Amino acid sequence: MVLVEKIKNFIDDFNSIFDSDKGFNRFLTVWLNYFILISILNFFIFLHYSILYAITAVVVVAYLIYCYRFIKEDKPDWLLRNLFGVMEFYIIVMTTSFGFDCGFQNVVFSTTMAFFLPLYSPNYAIFDPRTLRDFSITFLLTYACLYLVCGDPSYVPFFEVSDTTVKILYVMNSIETVVSIVLFAKFYISRNNYFRRVLTRREDFDELTNVYNRFAINKMITNMYQNSKKDFDIAIVDIDFFKKINDTYGHNAGDKVLQNIARFLKKAVRRDGTFVGRWGGEEFIIVSDTMSYHSFVNLLKKIRKSIEEYEFHYKKDKIRLTVSIGANSGSKELVVEELIKSADDNLYKAKENGRNKVVS
Ligand code: GH3
Ligand code: MG
Ligand code: MG
Repeated sequence: MVLVEKIKNFIDDFNSIFDSDKGFNRFLTVWLNYFILISILNFFIFLHYSILYAITAVVVVAYLIYCYRFIKEDKPDWLLRNLFGVMEFYIIVMTTSFGFDCGFQNVVFSTTMAFFLPLYSPNYAIFDPRTLRDFSITFLLTYACLYLVCGDPSYVPFFEVSDTTVKILYVMNSIETVVSIVLFAKFYISRNNYFRRVLTRREDFDELTNVYNRFAINKMITNMYQNSKKDFDIAIVDIDFFKKINDTYGHNAGDKVLQNIARFLKKAVRRDGTFVGRWGGEEFIIVSDTMSYHSFVNLLKKIRKSIEEYEFHYKKDKIRLTVSIGANSGSKELVVEELIKSADDNLYKAKENGRNKVVS
C-alpha cells in the first residue's frame, strides 16, 4: 500500500513538472545533465586515454553537484544559462575531436528545440524571447561552421577512431537527438494543454470556491432548457446569517466557510447531470436534469440536515451554521428567468419561516 501510494505521489510530482515554470526549468537542467553524462560516457567506452578519464570524472562530479544544487535551491537561472553554454562547448569539442561523421553536431537540433519550443508556449519563458532567439541563432551558426570546417572531406579529427566506432557514435547521437526532440515536443504539448485547462477553469469556475460560476451555470441552464427531454430541477442554497459569521470570526473565516460549503455541496451531488455553482456572495445554486423532482428535494433535505450537523473548523474556532434552500422544477412552459425567480421566492419563504428549511 505504501509503495502504491509512493508511486502515485511520484507520478503526480512528475506530472506537475509540466504545470510550473520552475519544474520545467528543473527538468531541462536534469535533461541536460543526463545528456552530457551519457555523452561523456562515450569517452569511457571508446577511448581509453587516462587523461580523459580524469577530466571526464571531474566534469561528471561537477555536474552532479550542479544538478543537486539546482534541484535543492530551485532557482538560479544562471545555472541553466551556463549549462547551455556548456552544451555549445560540448558540441564543438566533440565534433572537432571525432569528426563530422560521428554526428555530435546533430545535438544542435535538439538543443535548439529546447530553446525554441518554450518560446511558442503560452506564458512561459526561461529567458526573454531575444535571448532565446540569440541562443538559437548561435546554435545554428555553430552547426554551419562545424559543417564548413569539420564536414570538409579533408578535415582530420583530433582522434582517429575505427569505422565501427564512428557508426556506433552516430547511431547513439541520432537516438539522443530524436529522443530529446520527442521529449521537448511532449513538453510543449503538455504545457499548451495545461494552459488551456487553466483558461477553461478561469472562464467557468468561481475562483474562491472552485465550483461553477454564474456565467457557466447560466450556460448550463440554457443548454438543459433547449436539449433536455425531461424537466429539470433547480435550487438556491443561501447560508443563514452569514454576515454574522464574517462579523464574529472575520472575513477570512467567512471565505473558508464558503469554500467548505461548496465542497460539501459538490460532494453531496456527485452524480452525472447535477451541477453546483456559486450564484452570488453566499448563495449557491444546484441544477439537475437526471433526477425526479421528488428525489431532488429529498437530496436537498439531506444536504440541509448534514450542514446543520456539521462543525466547520477555522483555526481555533468551531463554526456551526445552517442553510435555507428554495427549490423548483422547471418545465418547458416556464422561461428560465421565471424558474429562477420561483426558486428564489421559495428561498424567501424559507427565510421568512424561520430559516434552516427547504421550501419546494
Ligand atoms: P440571511 O440569513 O438573511 O441570508 O442573512 P445573511 O447575513 O446570510 O445575508 P446577507 O445577504 O445580509 O449577507 C450576506 C453576506 O455575505 C454579506 C457579505 O459580507 C457576505 N459575503 C458575500 N460574499 C462573500 C465572500 O466572498 N466572502 C465573505 N467572507 N463574505 C461574503
Ligand atoms: Mg443571500
Ligand atoms: Mg444568507
